[in-house]
Parts: sequence; structure tokens; C-alpha cells
Amino acid sequence: MAAESLTLTLAQAREQLARRDISAVELTRTCLDRMAAVESKLNAFITMCPREALEQAERADRRIAAGDGTPLTGIPLAIKDIFATRGVRTTCASKILDGFVPPYDATVIAKLRAAGAVFVGKANMDEFAMGSSTENSAFGPTRNPYDLARVAGGSSGGSAAAVAADECMAALGTDTGGSIREPASFCGVVGLKPTYSRVSRYGVIAYASSLDQVGPFTKTVRDAAIMLREIAGVDPRDSTCSARPVANYELSLNGEIAGMRIGVPREFFVEGMERDVDSAVQSAIKHLQALGARPVEISLPHTDYAVAAYYLIATAEASANLARYDGMRYGLRAEADNTLDLYNRTRDRGFGAEVKRRIMLGTFALSTGYYDAYYLKAQKVRTLIRQDFERAFEHCDIIVTPVAPSTAFKLGEKTADPLQMYLSDIFTISVNLAGLPGLSLPCGYDTAGMPIGLQLIGPPFGEEIILRAGDAYENTATIKRRAPSL
Ligand code: GLN
Repeated sequence: MAAESLTLTLAQAREQLARRDISAVELTRTCLDRMAAVESKLNAFITMCPREALEQAERADRRIAAGDGTPLTGIPLAIKDIFATRGVRTTCASKILDGFVPPYDATVIAKLRAAGAVFVGKANMDEFAMGSSTENSAFGPTRNPYDLARVAGGSSGGSAAAVAADECMAALGTDTGGSIREPASFCGVVGLKPTYSRVSRYGVIAYASSLDQVGPFTKTVRDAAIMLREIAGVDPRDSTCSARPVANYELSLNGEIAGMRIGVPREFFVEGMERDVDSAVQSAIKHLQALGARPVEISLPHTDYAVAAYYLIATAEASANLARYDGMRYGLRAEADNTLDLYNRTRDRGFGAEVKRRIMLGTFALSTGYYDAYYLKAQKVRTLIRQDFERAFEHCDIIVTPVAPSTAFKLGEKTADPLQMYLSDIFTISVNLAGLPGLSLPCGYDTAGMPIGLQLIGPPFGEEIILRAGDAYENTATIKRRAPSL
């Protein structure tokens, strides 16, 4: 039983739990055993919560027995360590939050808790979600389950690796510039970044507030639809959160994509992309066409400026958001004789190198004399990028692109050159700048056996259509999932 339940999808586990073929405790034990077996290799978790998880699972079993289950009751989940979790330390992979145990739950955590989900642990990530490889974690990098010498992607690398390695059935991450989609692609799982404002960020440690969005990692597109329905929706505690009704996303998975116009942006198929990635994505487009979709060439002419604009806007917002870590209210506090020294020493000791680089970059971009030249200009570029998408969606229903120009790279390969690292976000960043939903799903493997991701981009609140297309692809794709050999 244990070995079989390990590879169940969330939808399958939901059915088996409801039929009482398995119990939440058994399912949770399977994940905890798996964590015990593989964590020394992967480092996907910063904090593991076996005791709490088993208690939650016991409660879930009682609830299911009473006929009071939800689709997530008894489902073991990993939570990126950026979400405030009541009573469980929350580090954001930074030393500066040392010893911080939140007295409250983020809204999404409260929702999942109310649904009866089981939290197996807090997943590893880049410090403050700044990075594309999880190498910026103060707790050491997460390794890719398909090749331990390679990165899991980032910043939500722990969440992606944990799902890929069957340490949980699904996970929660955040995506500011690609942090759900890129690690999903590197680890061969499904990752969904919803439309900006679709999911509450209350209790999610802020990186760049005009871009941050919460979303799920799952084994299948159907599972992503199930998760999204549970976490989406209005929240009086997050004024940016949309009041639009939440759909039953699973109902839109009807396999019908005949006549769907799929936009293929010519700027996304450029030099520098790995050949295996290019051919896997081209094959996926052909496959969608065989299912009845109609490819149309589109143009997103300002794509070239997306990375530059993003790294100005994100760092500017981060420099303001991270001003609160001063050693006064929570986390690390350095010894000092006066207040200013206390701030300085705490921040010097608490923040890692990349976080410091970004605070400086953002502060510079916002400073008098440079504001117009950098920050304001970046905002104007952002508007142009959004307009590119608006125009493109006049000619297509969804947009299909690669998720990243390469598959998972080697640990240490890009750490010496921040710009190289930033360029791994080239295909994901403009989606955040425009506030759109983006789905990453596996579409093949390169010659080294590393997973390749396909990105489906929708118009604002177009989650249903990208999930429908992704599900149709997944159910008919000829390339079957290969489990990592750990
Ligand atoms: N890699 C991007 C960055 O470092 C995106 C990170 C994210 O989406 N949180 O900012």
C-alpha cells in the first residue's frame, strides 16, 4: 500500500480517502517516511512537522468518517517558508527572521487548515524569494530530484522538489517573477501562478507587492485546479485581493480545445534557448494543434526590456518592504550600544549577499535624481508590456511559450554572475509585470533526462482556459512522466 499511495495524485487520493480505502494517517505516514528517506539528499524542507502533521491527519480521518470532508481533507501539503504559519517557525530562508514563530496564519494557510489539509513542513526557498535556484537560502540549496548536482529552480525550489520527490501531494509557493513556474519546470511538476489579486497575500512575507502572487505545485493540472479553488477568493485583510467569484476550475477540464487559438510569440523563440527545450515546446504546440487548437503567430515586441524593468521594479519595492527588518520587533537582534548600530548590525548580519544587493539596487533606483531615469521608466515599460499582451489577446485565446531557456542548471553554475541568473526569468517575468495567469506543465525531457516545461499564459482571470488546455495536453501527451530515481 505504502509504495502505491506514494505516487497517487491529489484527485486519486481524494477518491480513496472518501471511499476509506486509505486513511489520512496512512497517507501522511507515507510522505513522512519518504521525507525521512530523501531529505538528506534534497534539502527541500527548512522545517519538518511530523508530529503536527500526524495530529492533523488524525483529525482529518475523524472528519472524513463523520462525512464532513472537503477535497483537501487529509491531503499532505508542503508550504513554502514564506507563509506565516501559527506556532511553526517561519524563516523566509533568512537568518534575519531567526526564532520568529508567527502568532497567526496567512489567509491561505487558514483556508487550507479549515479544509482539513495536513502540513508536513515548511519548504526551502531563496532568501525572501529572491533568486531562481534556491541557492540563496540561508539553509543551504535544495537539490533537483532528477540530478542531485543540479538546482531545483527558485525561488520556490523546495516546494517543487518536494512534490517531484513525492514528499507531499501538493505544495504552496509564490511567484513574483517566475518562482512557481521555473522550479515546476526544472522539477517536472505542474505550477500555477494565478492572475495578480486572485489569491490573498495576507500573511505572505512581502517581496515585491505589485507582483507577488500565491499558487500551487501539483503532480497534475487537475490537481492544480482543485488547489486553486480552495485558496482563491476575496479577503478583507488584503485590499488588493479581487472580489470576483471563484470558479469551480475542475469543471472546466472538459478536454475541449478544438478551435482554441494559441498565440506563439515570435520573441520567445530566440537564440540562446537550448535546442531540446525549443524542440519539446514546438512538439507540444504541434500536439495542441492535433487536438484541434489553431496556432497563430503573435508578437510581444517589448519582451527584450522585461528583465531590466522587472529588476528595477522588484528591487525598488523590496527595498521598501524589507525596511521593517530592523531587529526591533521580531527575529534576529544584534548587540549594539545605540539604536542605529543595532539596525545596521542586525541587517548586516541577518541578510544574505543577494538580498543586500537588491536592497541597494532598489534604494538607488528610487533615490532623488535617479527615480525618473530608472523607476519611472521601468513603470512605463511595464505599461507597454501589459499593452503588448492586451493586443496579443485580440488574436488568440491563450499564449504558449517555454518556461525557461534551459533545463535545470548545475549548482554553482550561475551564482558568480547575478545577471546570468536573472536571465533565467526571461520567459516568466513579463507575465508578472502584466498581472496575468501562467501555468507551467511538463512537456518532455532533454538528452540528460532533465524535465522541460511548457508555459500557458491566459488573459486576466483566464485560469479556466489555461487549465483546460493544460489538462487536455496532459491527458493525451505521448511523453509519459518519468519518476526521479532517488
Ligand atoms: N527569480 C526572480 C527574482 O529573483 C523571481 C523570484 C520570484 O518570483 N519570487 O526576483
